Amino acid sequence: MSASANRFNPHSQTTEAFQQSEKLFRALIENSSDALALVSDEGVFTYVSPPVQKILGFTPEELLGCRATNLFPPEYLAIALERFEAVSKTPGLTVTIEHPCLHKDGSWRWIESTTTNHLHNPTIQAFVTNFRDINKRKQSEEELRRAKEQFEAILHNAADGITVQDASGSIVYVNNVAATLSGFPSAEAMLNAPPDTLRQLIQRFVMKDEEGNLMAVDELPGRRALQGEKNVQALIQYVDTITGQIRWSLVKSQPILDEDGRVQLIVNVVTDISERQAFEQRKDEFISMASHELKTPVTSIKGFTQILHSRYKKRGDEESLRFLTIMNEQLDKLTKLISDLLDISKMQAGKLTFQEDFFDLSLLVQETVEHLQATTSTHKIQFDGIRDVQVFGDRDRLGQVLVNLLTNAIKYSPQADTVIVRVAADLENAIVSVQDFGIGIQKGHQDKIFERFYQVTDPEGKTFPGLGIGLYISSEIVKQHNGQMRIESIKGAGSTFSFTVPLRESKEIPQ
Ligand code: ADP
Repeated sequence: MSASANRFNPHSQTTEAFQQSEKLFRALIENSSDALALVSDEGVFTYVSPPVQKILGFTPEELLGCRATNLFPPEYLAIALERFEAVSKTPGLTVTIEHPCLHKDGSWRWIESTTTNHLHNPTIQAFVTNFRDINKRKQSEEELRRAKEQFEAILHNAADGITVQDASGSIVYVNNVAATLSGFPSAEAMLNAPPDTLRQLIQRFVMKDEEGNLMAVDELPGRRALQGEKNVQALIQYVDTITGQIRWSLVKSQPILDEDGRVQLIVNVVTDISERQAFEQRKDEFISMASHELKTPVTSIKGFTQILHSRYKKRGDEESLRFLTIMNEQLDKLTKLISDLLDISKMQAGKLTFQEDFFDLSLLVQETVEHLQATTSTHKIQFDGIRDVQVFGDRDRLGQVLVNLLTNAIKYSPQADTVIVRVAADLENAIVSVQDFGIGIQKGHQDKIFERFYQVTDPEGKTFPGLGIGLYISSEIVKQHNGQMRIESIKGAGSTFSFTVPLRESKEIPQ
């Protein structure tokens, strides 16, 4: 038959179309990334498509006639048979399971198999199973699970308490330490606690700040981070109203933002520093006791030097008088150290008292400069400033600040010979500054030198004696006067320390 005659034969046209579509389906099945298999009602492979080789290493021919269950690991056999039975009972039912499957190389590969019962379909008369290779996905899931487990183990074994809150403030994660600190036996117990229990628990603790002032809930670091504040931290005292026990925690909170900058999560890290605080308290008590004990004998020695002074003077014993002057100077230094230590312990206990009154700050500065100049031969202290600056405060304590700044300016500028003291005022504050031309302070140390016991430890700074408490006491005194202390300094070129004291307020002017 000619080709042109064939074109008009309807029967031949159908056969051709059928062959075309069979080719297409075969190509689809053979080139798919999934493998297809027909399994008889006895569970034996009657057809397996070629992609099986990419997935399991076996050729289709090697699997023909094999039992499908031979490819299952023993621990999955029961579940495989159970599913197979369920599918066999219900024509048309489809079941999908994920399971390891035997590879030709003897290893197990993760497969997702979807089986449909087509036994009743006269053209198929088999179970049709689709195999999909999910080995990579399973491996990544496994890695993710392991990483999550490791991460959780790390978090649970961390020395710090860790909690995570969502954007509504609810706790979504808590480790065991945080749960124990909050009075729960475990993290699960805390996470599963009904809201009422959590509320009761929060009410059971009274929270106070470092100075012992009550803290409002909005002041807590977690709440502040919820408002978008970053790197929030606070030292919090938790007073258990039932047991009376006090715990100290350093709480740090950090918001985690989404791409639009909205708060998604809050991570809180709670470090229990109760023991450290108890130790600090013992240390403060020791300093307080030691300085009290030292004060009495030093006062008595000072008294006797005065008696000796008048005796040697009567006798005209110049040499002994000279020694006595040196002794007196050293005793003055010792007295200053002891009173600084006493002040610091009073400050820690919140017991430093202030005797406040109206006075002329400029006059105080001039008197202090004169007094110090009388005992200083190495430096000229220049006064440069306005007069009659009325403030309200403790004259002696502010004088103490000035003495600290001036003695530091002299001490830390051994190569220079001038210190300049200025008094100025703006609309609200009197400003006193002390400038020296000495060793200066590097930027990195500048915000720390007002901390208790802080001293610059570079090779040059180390050579100066001291306890690192003068600036701490000074800044605390200035703070008590609602003033501010500042430093400007360039390493090697000198420093200017300044403090402000609010000018007397109208309500405080005596009638
Ligand atoms: P100290 O008894 O050590 O002088 P301070 O509290 O008065 O204690 O000062 C703290 C530290 O600040 C000092 O140890 C010193 O390193 C630094 N410092 C203070 N004043 C000056 C200054 N005028 N110039 C350079 N460094 C200074």
